[in-house]
Amino acid sequence: MQKIKMVTPLVEIDGDEMTRILWQMIKDKLLYPYIDLKTEYYDLGLKHRDETDDQVTVDAAYAIKKYGVGVKCATITPDASRIKEYGLKKMWKSPNGTIRAILDGTVFRAPILVKNIKPMVSGWEEPIIIARHAYGDVYKGVEFKATGKGKAEMVFTDENGQETRQTIHEFDEEGGIVLSMHNTHKSIRSFAKACFEYALGEKRDLWFSTKQTISKTYDHTFMDIFNELYESEYKEAFEKAGIEYFYTLIDDAVARIIRSKGGMVWACKNYDGDVMSDMVATAFGSLAMMTSVLVSPEGHYEYEAAHGTVQRHYYRHLKGEKTSTNSMATLFAWTGALRKRGEKDGLKDLCEFADKLEKAAINTIENGTMTKDLALLCEEGDLNVFNSEEFLDAIKNELEKML
Ligand code: NAP
Ligand code: MG
Repeated sequence: MQKIKMVTPLVEIDGDEMTRILWQMIKDKLLYPYIDLKTEYYDLGLKHRDETDDQVTVDAAYAIKKYGVGVKCATITPDASRIKEYGLKKMWKSPNGTIRAILDGTVFRAPILVKNIKPMVSGWEEPIIIARHAYGDVYKGVEFKATGKGKAEMVFTDENGQETRQTIHEFDEEGGIVLSMHNTHKSIRSFAKACFEYALGEKRDLWFSTKQTISKTYDHTFMDIFNELYESEYKEAFEKAGIEYFYTLIDDAVARIIRSKGGMVWACKNYDGDVMSDMVATAFGSLAMMTSVLVSPEGHYEYEAAHGTVQRHYYRHLKGEKTSTNSMATLFAWTGALRKRGEKDGLKDLCEFADKLEKAAINTIENGTMTKDLALLCEEGDLNVFNSEEFLDAIKNELEKML
């Protein structure tokens, strides 16, 4: 077979620990032999981020803006213990946070379903895709301790120096805690736009939920912006596509989601999305089967696995032990990115290859060959529980049959 040619480079963002090991294995076994892989490479391994004072992360994000499609390996977000472990100059920020801020993107997380692993919620037949607003709220919160008796206030000073002020709370001697957070109309509108576009692209219903009954200004604004945008720009397209936009209170949404068959895109505010995506991922099986894509309002895409660097497996790997780390989500990050690159450049063979590689990976698991994390969830007997490398070889075998 002739290797598939690419036109525009894919922005390749390497990462850390066990996922960095899987990254190389995926390329060596499943990509290089079949594709003339054209990438612009950014090494976000923690050591290199430190060496470049994190400039490499910023450069990678701008490369996605330039080329339109990126694929990212999981990366360490440093904490105090990592500063010691890697002798870092400082506690660099989360690379994902930096990239999201530059792309102003929304993160969509979708589980990979296989027939032999049943979701814990027995009614779920189709994936539930969570769209998490990736800007603001408590993640850009300002908080402090009120150390004793006193008044906490919120003040807005407009550009003419005019102040608007409101009392938050009058504390007694015991004091307490205060948090203030914000969002911008622009970011909420981008979030809404990304969600409507993604739902149309996937031909799935879009659900949105907030707590607008309690948060009558903050959350209500989210609801209003979604409604306005739907009515003015998307209603017709949704009706034509036969899909629905559905708004409901967050508590009601949670109850309905559990009772549903799945199949919708569920747009969540930043914190709701953070929490609900872990719940949904676990209920669908394993974090190792959850994919993630950051979509910017300009239509730039960054694909990655939802899980982290699988630190515990990496330490075993360093000791020379074989690990059974599941590479599905990382592999699907590559296939997602290659397919999108193919769509943008009109490369049918690249898109078809991505489809086949995904099918080969799913078939491998459905035929009973999988890593340990999935074997623990699989009800059927007679399984081949493989290590990280053997599992990728099994996928390669399956792929060869399809080419
Ligand atoms: P993690 O890497 O997601 O792993 C947590 C546990 O989940 C693992 O110990 C493993 O359980 C299981 N697991 C996750 N992915 C797996 C896979 N592909 N195959 C098999 N098992 C898998 O989370 P963490 O250990 O808390 O975080 C490690 C580092 O990742 C941290 O430095 C964090 O900052 C970073 N992180 C990065 C991203 C990102 O770049 N997107 C996201 C989250 C975390 P067992 O050990 O029980 O097998
Ligand atoms: Mg989370």
